[in-house]
Amino acid sequence: MKITAVEPIHLRVPVVEAIPDGTLDVLIVKIHTDEGLTGIGEVTSQSYVCKACFDAPRSAARRHGLTSILLGEDPRDVEGLWEKMYYETNRYGRRGAGIHAMSGADIALWDLKGKIEGKPVSELLGGRVRDDVRAYASVLFADTPEETAAMAQEYVEMGLTAVKFGWGPIGPDPDVDVAHVAAAREAVGWDRDLMVDAGHAWDWETALGRTELFKPFKIAWLEEPVGQDDRKGYAELCKRSEIPIAGGEGDVTHWDFEDLIERGLDIVQPDIAFCGGITVCKRVSDMATAQGRKAVPHCFSTGINLAASLHWISTVPDGDLVEYCLRPSPLMRKLVVNLPPVIDGRVPVPAGPGLGIELDPAIEEEFTVRYD
Ligand code: MG
Repeated sequence: MKITAVEPIHLRVPVVEAIPDGTLDVLIVKIHTDEGLTGIGEVTSQSYVCKACFDAPRSAARRHGLTSILLGEDPRDVEGLWEKMYYETNRYGRRGAGIHAMSGADIALWDLKGKIEGKPVSELLGGRVRDDVRAYASVLFADTPEETAAMAQEYVEMGLTAVKFGWGPIGPDPDVDVAHVAAAREAVGWDRDLMVDAGHAWDWETALGRTELFKPFKIAWLEEPVGQDDRKGYAELCKRSEIPIAGGEGDVTHWDFEDLIERGLDIVQPDIAFCGGITVCKRVSDMATAQGRKAVPHCFSTGINLAASLHWISTVPDGDLVEYCLRPSPLMRKLVVNLPPVIDGRVPVPAGPGLGIELDPAIEEEFTVRYD
């Protein structure tokens, strides 16, 4: 069996605001074979740049476009192809757009392998330990504590048992931060989990001060309190914080996550459509499990990312949690026809071979960016 075509397809809603929302502009990847099967993947990054990472022609050694690397290869050797793509994009890949783009190819290859073998991706990864995964709602803090509380109330009514608020007004003023966290806690009640995403707002000393202020509200984790490259800051904070520290949504490859785990992070959050794909996530959760840490998927784009995350995390012994994005974008809500729903606070892992999802051709057509 051979790969006969690789299609990077750029989808974008008409108005893309400059807010931390991955549901507005994505690159989907389709890998076709000579036996008529197609695998589907997604890249959550800068779609124009990542599309070019596919389309670029062959060049001098280790700087080839991804499509040229994959054409003619046997799609069944997924991990071998990961190594080949990583090596042959070395000069521009490794830690930037090249590895983000590779994530989409890797997801599509796992989907394809599942379709070829008639098995769900979770089975290829060693088998599920659960058929559905507990969801946590992931939303941005509102402008005022009252609005934050009203949103929290909505998620409680949806049956969710965990909610994460992040970004927005959090950061400059400790009184504002505490008011929002207190309002969110009161609205979700004490029998549900509440997490806070600081969106790299502080240095580690300031972050440590916030962990003291947040202690009465019993938050399950404080996410990205310091800059993504402030590895020393993470290490200092993790040594001292009584609240678990989470991070890693901006990191790629299992080597970066090995570093975060060594720095003491309690929860690592790879994004499957960004970090290097399913292959990397599996390596990360194996490491996290061995070190007594927890991997929780960062997942804030389309149903393709969600389905891939569910297949992966359903196989991880201590992995009963997935980020569930509630943004209204049609690329999140409508692109995947059988979008996994939240039922009693949990999300079923899609059945069927591969990722078990189907795309809506009308949505694809409506939002495709034309390059010619
Ligand atoms: Mg985050």
